[in-house]
Amino acid sequence: MRIPFIGGNWKMNLSLDEAVQFVIDIKDKLPDPKNVETALAASPLFLESMLKANGSSPLHVTAENCFYKNEGAYTGEVSPKALSQMGIPYVIVGHSERRRYFNETNDIINKKVHAVLSNGMRPILCCDETMGRLETGDRIHWVVNQVTAGLKGISEKDALKVVIAYEPSWAIGTGHSASTTEAEEGCYLIRQTLADIYSDDVANQIRILYGGSVDPDNIVALMKQIDIDGILAGKSSLKSKEFLELANYQD
Ligand code: 13P
Repeated sequence: MRIPFIGGNWKMNLSLDEAVQFVIDIKDKLPDPKNVETALAASPLFLESMLKANGSSPLHVTAENCFYKNEGAYTGEVSPKALSQMGIPYVIVGHSERRRYFNETNDIINKKVHAVLSNGMRPILCCDETMGRLETGDRIHWVVNQVTAGLKGISEKDALKVVIAYEPSWAIGTGHSASTTEAEEGCYLIRQTLADIYSDDVANQIRILYGGSVDPDNIVALMKQIDIDGILAGKSSLKSKEFLELANYQD
Protein backbone atom coordinates (compact mmCIF):
# COMPACT_ATOMS: atom_id res chain seq x y z
CA MET A 1 0.00 0.00 0.00
CA ARG A 2 1.27 3.50 -0.84
CA ILE A 3 0.83 5.80 2.16
CA PRO A 4 -0.42 9.21 0.99
CA PHE A 5 2.22 11.92 1.20
CA ILE A 6 1.20 15.55 1.75
CA GLY A 7 4.10 17.95 1.33
CA GLY A 8 4.52 21.69 1.49
CA ASN A 9 7.33 23.52 -0.26
CA TRP A 10 7.78 26.94 1.25
CA LYS A 11 10.42 28.01 -1.30
CA MET A 12 12.14 31.29 -0.24
CA ASN A 13 9.31 32.48 2.01
CA LEU A 14 8.56 33.07 5.72
CA SER A 15 10.93 34.26 8.43
CA LEU A 16 12.73 32.05 10.93
CA ASP A 17 10.27 33.03 13.68
CA GLU A 18 7.30 32.32 11.42
CA ALA A 19 8.74 28.94 10.44
CA VAL A 20 9.19 27.87 14.05
CA GLN A 21 5.73 29.13 15.08
CA PHE A 22 4.21 27.27 12.11
CA VAL A 23 5.68 23.97 13.29
CA ILE A 24 4.50 24.60 16.87
CA ASP A 25 0.99 25.39 15.56
CA ILE A 26 0.59 22.23 13.48
CA LYS A 27 2.60 19.53 15.16
CA ASP A 28 -0.17 18.15 17.37
CA LYS A 29 -2.82 18.36 14.66
CA LEU A 30 -1.25 16.18 11.98
CA PRO A 31 -2.74 12.90 10.79
CA ASP A 32 -1.45 9.55 12.00
CA PRO A 33 1.64 8.87 9.83
CA LYS A 34 0.42 5.30 9.34
CA ASN A 35 -2.41 6.86 7.30
CA VAL A 36 -0.87 10.04 5.84
CA GLU A 37 2.74 11.23 5.88
CA THR A 38 3.36 14.97 6.06
CA ALA A 39 6.41 17.03 5.12
CA LEU A 40 7.40 20.69 4.99
CA ALA A 41 10.38 21.76 2.90
CA ALA A 42 12.13 24.93 4.04
CA SER A 43 15.27 26.99 3.69
CA PRO A 44 18.37 25.27 5.12
CA LEU A 45 18.64 28.27 7.48
CA PHE A 46 15.39 27.24 9.20
CA LEU A 47 15.83 23.48 9.41
CA GLU A 48 17.71 23.18 12.72
CA SER A 49 15.16 25.36 14.57
CA MET A 50 12.23 23.59 12.89
CA LEU A 51 13.60 20.20 13.93
CA LYS A 52 13.89 21.38 17.53
CA ALA A 53 10.34 22.81 17.50
CA ASN A 54 9.03 19.64 15.86
CA GLY A 55 10.41 17.23 18.47
CA SER A 56 8.96 13.79 17.90
CA SER A 57 5.95 14.89 15.84
CA PRO A 58 5.35 12.94 12.61
CA LEU A 59 6.15 15.95 10.37
CA HIS A 60 9.12 15.35 8.06
CA VAL A 61 11.23 18.50 8.20
CA THR A 62 12.53 18.51 4.63
CA ALA A 63 15.23 20.30 2.62
CA GLU A 64 14.39 22.09 -0.65
CA ASN A 65 17.68 21.30 -2.32
CA CYS A 66 21.25 20.16 -1.75
CA PHE A 67 24.50 19.83 -3.68
CA TYR A 68 25.78 16.49 -5.00
CA LYS A 69 29.12 16.54 -3.17
CA ASN A 70 29.42 15.97 0.56
CA GLU A 71 32.26 18.44 1.12
CA GLY A 72 34.91 20.52 -0.60
CA ALA A 73 35.54 23.91 -2.17
CA TYR A 74 31.93 24.65 -3.21
CA THR A 75 31.24 28.07 -1.74
CA GLY A 76 27.66 28.59 -0.70
CA GLU A 77 26.42 25.09 -1.41
CA VAL A 78 24.41 22.86 0.96
CA SER A 79 26.07 19.55 1.83
CA PRO A 80 23.83 16.45 1.73
CA LYS A 81 26.05 14.91 4.40
CA ALA A 82 25.40 17.88 6.72
CA LEU A 83 21.63 17.60 6.11
CA SER A 84 21.79 13.92 6.95
CA GLN A 85 23.75 14.61 10.13
CA MET A 86 21.05 17.05 11.20
CA GLY A 87 18.46 14.31 10.88
CA ILE A 88 16.72 15.50 7.70
CA PRO A 89 14.77 12.61 6.12
CA TYR A 90 13.77 14.02 2.69
CA VAL A 91 15.33 16.40 0.16
CA ILE A 92 13.53 17.90 -2.85
CA VAL A 93 15.67 17.45 -5.96
CA GLY A 94 15.20 18.95 -9.41
CA HIS A 95 12.35 21.36 -8.74
CA SER A 96 11.37 23.23 -11.90
CA GLU A 97 12.58 26.48 -10.29
CA ARG A 98 16.03 24.88 -9.83
CA ARG A 99 15.97 23.70 -13.43
CA ARG A 100 14.87 27.09 -14.76
CA TYR A 101 16.72 29.65 -12.63
CA PHE A 102 19.82 27.67 -11.67
CA ASN A 103 20.32 25.71 -14.88
CA GLU A 104 20.11 22.31 -13.26
CA THR A 105 20.29 19.61 -15.90
CA ASN A 106 19.07 16.02 -15.70
CA ASP A 107 22.70 14.99 -15.19
CA ILE A 108 23.15 17.30 -12.17
CA ILE A 109 19.80 16.18 -10.75
CA ASN A 110 20.77 12.52 -11.14
CA LYS A 111 23.98 13.18 -9.18
CA LYS A 112 21.89 14.81 -6.45
CA VAL A 113 19.53 11.81 -6.30
CA HIS A 114 22.58 9.56 -5.79
CA ALA A 115 24.02 11.91 -3.14
CA VAL A 116 20.77 12.08 -1.15
CA LEU A 117 20.35 8.29 -1.17
CA SER A 118 23.99 7.58 -0.31
CA ASN A 119 23.58 9.82 2.74
CA GLY A 120 20.63 7.75 3.96
CA MET A 121 17.94 10.29 3.01
CA ARG A 122 15.11 10.07 0.49
CA PRO A 123 14.85 12.29 -2.61
CA ILE A 124 11.62 13.86 -3.78
CA LEU A 125 12.49 13.94 -7.47
CA CYS A 126 10.53 16.61 -9.35
CA CYS A 127 9.65 16.42 -13.04
CA ASP A 128 8.38 19.52 -14.73
CA GLU A 129 6.48 20.12 -17.96
CA THR A 130 5.92 23.38 -19.81
CA MET A 131 2.70 24.36 -21.57
CA GLY A 132 4.49 24.09 -24.90
CA ARG A 133 5.29 20.44 -24.22
CA LEU A 134 1.67 19.76 -23.28
CA GLU A 135 0.31 21.51 -26.36
CA THR A 136 2.66 19.94 -28.87
CA GLY A 137 2.22 16.46 -27.40
CA ASP A 138 5.92 16.36 -26.54
CA ARG A 139 5.14 15.80 -22.85
CA ILE A 140 5.60 12.04 -23.02
CA HIS A 141 9.17 12.25 -24.24
CA TRP A 142 9.95 15.11 -21.86
CA VAL A 143 8.53 13.56 -18.68
CA VAL A 144 9.83 10.06 -19.44
CA ASN A 145 13.28 11.49 -20.07
CA GLN A 146 13.37 13.35 -16.76
CA VAL A 147 12.37 10.24 -14.79
CA THR A 148 14.76 7.97 -16.67
CA ALA A 149 17.69 10.38 -16.47
CA GLY A 150 16.99 11.31 -12.84
CA LEU A 151 17.04 7.65 -11.78
CA LYS A 152 20.02 6.57 -13.90
CA GLY A 153 22.13 4.07 -11.95
CA ILE A 154 19.66 3.88 -9.05
CA SER A 155 19.07 0.29 -7.91
CA GLU A 156 15.61 -1.19 -7.48
CA LYS A 157 16.12 -1.19 -3.69
CA ASP A 158 16.99 2.51 -3.65
CA ALA A 159 14.27 3.42 -6.16
CA LEU A 160 11.72 2.27 -3.57
CA LYS A 161 12.93 5.08 -1.29
CA VAL A 162 12.35 7.76 -3.92
CA VAL A 163 9.20 9.89 -4.09
CA ILE A 164 8.48 11.42 -7.50
CA ALA A 165 6.59 14.67 -8.03
CA TYR A 166 4.91 15.60 -11.30
CA GLU A 167 4.89 19.38 -11.25
CA PRO A 168 3.91 21.01 -14.55
CA SER A 169 5.36 24.50 -14.52
CA TRP A 170 2.25 25.71 -16.38
CA ALA A 171 0.27 25.07 -13.17
CA ILE A 172 2.81 26.17 -10.54
CA GLY A 173 2.02 29.48 -8.86
CA THR A 174 -0.81 30.27 -11.29
CA GLY A 175 -3.79 29.53 -9.05
CA HIS A 176 -4.96 27.14 -11.82
CA SER A 177 -4.24 23.53 -11.01
CA ALA A 178 -4.03 20.92 -13.75
CA SER A 179 -7.41 19.22 -14.11
CA THR A 180 -7.70 15.89 -12.33
CA THR A 181 -7.42 14.19 -15.72
CA GLU A 182 -4.27 16.09 -16.71
CA ALA A 183 -2.68 15.46 -13.30
CA GLU A 184 -3.58 11.77 -13.37
CA GLU A 185 -2.20 11.43 -16.93
CA GLY A 186 1.14 12.89 -15.86
CA CYS A 187 1.39 10.64 -12.80
CA TYR A 188 0.26 7.57 -14.80
CA LEU A 189 2.94 8.32 -17.38
CA ILE A 190 5.55 8.42 -14.62
CA ARG A 191 4.33 5.10 -13.19
CA GLN A 192 4.53 3.47 -16.63
CA THR A 193 8.07 4.79 -16.97
CA LEU A 194 9.00 3.32 -13.57
CA ALA A 195 7.52 -0.03 -14.68
CA ASP A 196 9.66 0.09 -17.84
CA ILE A 197 12.83 0.92 -15.89
CA TYR A 198 12.21 -1.51 -13.00
CA SER A 199 9.06 -3.65 -12.88
CA ASP A 200 5.30 -3.32 -12.32
CA ASP A 201 5.86 -4.41 -8.73
CA VAL A 202 8.41 -1.63 -8.05
CA ALA A 203 6.35 0.96 -9.94
CA ASN A 204 3.31 0.10 -7.84
CA GLN A 205 5.20 0.76 -4.60
CA ILE A 206 6.72 4.16 -5.50
CA ARG A 207 4.76 7.23 -4.46
CA ILE A 208 3.99 9.82 -7.11
CA LEU A 209 2.84 13.30 -6.12
CA TYR A 210 1.16 16.06 -8.08
CA GLY A 211 2.19 19.70 -7.55
CA GLY A 212 0.88 22.93 -9.08
CA SER A 213 -1.74 25.18 -7.41
CA VAL A 214 -3.05 22.49 -5.07
CA ASP A 215 -5.32 23.96 -2.39
CA PRO A 216 -7.86 22.76 0.18
CA ASP A 217 -10.63 22.97 -2.46
CA ASN A 218 -9.06 20.74 -5.10
CA ILE A 219 -7.02 18.27 -3.03
CA VAL A 220 -9.77 15.72 -2.45
CA ALA A 221 -10.51 15.30 -6.17
CA LEU A 222 -6.81 15.05 -6.98
CA MET A 223 -6.20 12.46 -4.26
CA LYS A 224 -9.02 10.28 -5.67
CA GLN A 225 -6.97 9.65 -8.83
CA ILE A 226 -5.45 6.18 -9.04
CA ASP A 227 -1.85 7.24 -9.68
CA ILE A 228 -1.75 10.34 -7.46
CA ASP A 229 -0.38 9.32 -4.06
CA GLY A 230 0.10 12.77 -2.63
CA ILE A 231 0.65 16.42 -3.36
CA LEU A 232 3.35 19.06 -3.10
CA ALA A 233 1.88 22.48 -2.35
CA GLY A 234 3.65 25.82 -2.58
CA LYS A 235 1.44 28.84 -1.87
CA SER A 236 -1.22 26.96 0.11
CA SER A 237 1.45 25.52 2.42
CA LEU A 238 2.42 28.98 3.67
CA LYS A 239 -0.43 29.31 6.17
CA SER A 240 -0.70 26.75 8.94
CA LYS A 241 -4.50 26.58 8.74
CA GLU A 242 -4.41 25.75 5.02
CA PHE A 243 -1.57 23.27 5.39
CA LEU A 244 -3.54 21.47 8.12
CA GLU A 245 -6.56 21.33 5.80
CA LEU A 246 -4.37 19.72 3.15
CA ALA A 247 -2.80 17.30 5.64
CA ASN A 248 -6.22 16.31 7.02
CA TYR A 249 -7.94 16.16 3.62
CA GLN A 250 -9.45 12.78 4.53
CA ASP A 251 -11.49 14.19 7.45
P1 13P B 1 2.15 26.26 -5.98
O1 13P B 1 1.33 25.35 -5.09
O2 13P B 1 2.34 27.62 -5.40
O3 13P B 1 1.64 26.26 -7.38
O4 13P B 1 3.64 25.63 -6.03
C1 13P B 1 3.78 24.27 -6.27
C2 13P B 1 5.19 23.87 -6.13
O5 13P B 1 6.08 24.39 -6.80
C3 13P B 1 5.50 22.83 -5.13
O6 13P B 1 6.81 22.40 -5.20
